[in-house]
Amino acid sequence: MEDLFANCNLCPRRCGADRTAGKTGFCRMPSVPVVNLIKLHYGEEPVVSGADGSGTVFFEGCSLGCIFCQNYGISRGPTGHGTEMDKDSLADAYLKLQDEGANNINLVTPMHFAPEVAASVAKAKTIGLKIPVAVNCSGYDLVSTLRLFDGLVDIYMPDMKYFSSKFSSEYSHAPDYFSVCCSAIDEMVRQTGSVVLDEDGLIRKGVIVRHLILPGGIFDSKHIIDYLTSRYGDRIYISLMSQYTPMPSCTGKLASKPSKSACDALADYLESTGQANAFIQDYDSSGNEMIPDFRI
Ligand code: SF4
Repeated sequence: MEDLFANCNLCPRRCGADRTAGKTGFCRMPSVPVVNLIKLHYGEEPVVSGADGSGTVFFEGCSLGCIFCQNYGISRGPTGHGTEMDKDSLADAYLKLQDEGANNINLVTPMHFAPEVAASVAKAKTIGLKIPVAVNCSGYDLVSTLRLFDGLVDIYMPDMKYFSSKFSSEYSHAPDYFSVCCSAIDEMVRQTGSVVLDEDGLIRKGVIVRHLILPGGIFDSKHIIDYLTSRYGDRIYISLMSQYTPMPSCTGKLASKPSKSACDALADYLESTGQANAFIQDYDSSGNEMIPDFRI
């Protein structure tokens, strides 16, 4: 089988780096998955975390690289404190999380390691993994890479960060973000179908699209709400997040949190669409406590 790390085109950056030969591209990551943190996480949407927590695996690196990244401690490349984990050790880690009572396996930012991570999920299912598997990603994902997870992943949790190419260029150097993200979410919905919750109100399958409200981004946010509600309605879950926290490197508009009035206005706007499958984060729950204690 072709080694997809040898001429890496796993994400829309299409660097062509030979990661099998020690070269790196925009994501700055090797071909072996690097994991920073594995834990039961209670900070996801209630349909994901529930009372028992989501079995979360935080991968290092990211191919989008937003300048305001809320996980900036681990997203900018290797921290030097992560652990290289191949498909077998990842599969064992998923089973351990299942034994600890996790509601699901939650793979955070795995796309730049997609071939090995997909293989790890396939392996885990052969040795006893029963709980749903979720991929938690930036939305800047190629359909061809998402297809590696087809039939293996039950839940996708992509971001839809920007509508405007002005914002996506300025904040993520990705002028094509919105069109790439639209195709990616179409593919995710094709793979999982509509949202299904179990008798305890936990998600079993489907797509949860997350939108983080940015300071000064209210009109962009409205466009995204319009797009998602008109295209998918209650076939997907929409999660409107107000937890934006300025990182030390943020300047200008990004140096402050979005106002409560802006977040309230967007919450009202989403409610006015009649979208039932929606989660609106409480403004007062936002802040640094939502950011895990990474090894950095
Ligand atoms: S996954 Fe990394 S190396 Fe591969 S194309 Fe994307 S940024 Fe480049």
